[in-house]
Amino acid sequence: MESTRILLEANEIPSHWYNIAADLPVPPSPPLGPDGTPARPEQLAAIFPPAIIEQEMSSARWIEIPQQVREIFRLWRPSPLVRAVRLEAALGTPAKIFFKYEGGSPAGSHKPNSAVPQAYYNHAAGIKRLTTETGAGQWGSSIALAGQMFGLDVRIYMVKVSYEQKPYRRLMMQTWGAEVFPSPSEITATGRKILATEPDSPGSLGIAISEAVEEAAGRADTNYSLGSVLNHVVMHQSIIGLEAKKQFDKIGLYPDLVIAPCGGGSSFGGIAFPFLGDKAAGDKRAEKLRAIAVEPTSCPSLTKGRYTYDFGDASGFTPLMKMYTLGHDFVPAGIHAGGLRYHGAAQHVSLLYREGLIEAVAVPQLATFEAGVQFARTEGIIPAPESCHAIRVAIDEALRCKESGEPKVILFNLTGHGHFDMTAFERYFSGKLEDYDYPAAAVEQSLAKLGRYE
Ligand SMILES: *Cc1c(COP(=O)(O)O)cnc(C)c1O
Repeated sequence: MESTRILLEANEIPSHWYNIAADLPVPPSPPLGPDGTPARPEQLAAIFPPAIIEQEMSSARWIEIPQQVREIFRLWRPSPLVRAVRLEAALGTPAKIFFKYEGGSPAGSHKPNSAVPQAYYNHAAGIKRLTTETGAGQWGSSIALAGQMFGLDVRIYMVKVSYEQKPYRRLMMQTWGAEVFPSPSEITATGRKILATEPDSPGSLGIAISEAVEEAAGRADTNYSLGSVLNHVVMHQSIIGLEAKKQFDKIGLYPDLVIAPCGGGSSFGGIAFPFLGDKAAGDKRAEKLRAIAVEPTSCPSLTKGRYTYDFGDASGFTPLMKMYTLGHDFVPAGIHAGGLRYHGAAQHVSLLYREGLIEAVAVPQLATFEAGVQFARTEGIIPAPESCHAIRVAIDEALRCKESGEPKVILFNLTGHGHFDMTAFERYFSGKLEDYDYPAAAVEQSLAKLGRYE
């Protein structure tokens, strides 16, 4: 019997990350400081270590992965590339569907791929503590794990509603030794100010980021870490696509389509950019490759956003970045794919979309759960709600192949498992899950406040 799992040996973990900054079709627009001039590295030094700032601004094509980081990666990498033969059969499609499974990491998603190097570089720079924010807890649990591996103290500001409603990810973070506080908290000036006027504030990602950044900026031994959006995070995730390329080489195939969910864009860039690098290098196999970023209709940054300068966070602490955005104070509906509720998209993802080199589609919530359940019932793995977005589009493309008779090779990023999201499935099964329309008025309102720099 032919194996459906394509595996690599531990010594085949890539030695370098791929940085798409070296292969962009047009030069990227620089991030801007509050005065509208290009942000300087020193401005980032209060919250990031030198190696991360260097990576953030680097245009080197390959950047070496430190040996210690690769050794930790061996706990769950290389991740398997799996051919979804049972899903193919259920769909009756001639397409070959493959997924790269990132749910096998200790935290259950792709996020530790960046959390581990971020903890490593902070430790190497003599930093003792890390702060971050988390919504549903995917990033918080990843940085708690990574901090523990390097003896760093980790403090996590968790959006208060999630802190109360999602105790299990909080307990994961605590198991890995992190301190977790509901945000807004009494610890920071930002938190105290909000609590003074709104003692029952449910919190938001924007508030939690502000608390984490405030603390990191105010202490020399403490830095801040971010789980997506920034160039260095997207680059760290390129390990996903680089491994997938080696795995396809082993079976003599190459994908026609690469599909991933898109929140901040790190898992999409992570799996797609190494293949787009082949395309940029003139590799014939990649000539017709299509890369598709999938977002929720309730938070459609790429498909409905504006390409302009905006802040990466809700409070305006980050430099202004040129990206597709719905406006930094746009608050998306409470869909269960919490990791996709982000107002913008990574700069390089945005630039490539602008240049027509990648595609984006927005899908409604119910259709993603339908796809996720079909996947669970054929392939066994229960996907995270974010991952269900990619599965939806992979299935739709496979059904198109059924009509046209084309045996395309489809690759999607199965970014995480859904074991901590079972209440979302419960709501789906009981008919309580809703679709949200595109919130045109709210986006319009939020975008109207932007536009100082185009
Ligand atoms: C955070 C998350 C995402 C979305 O984030 P990106 O940076 O866009 O990849 C997708 N899937 C899972 C499981 C996540 O935890």
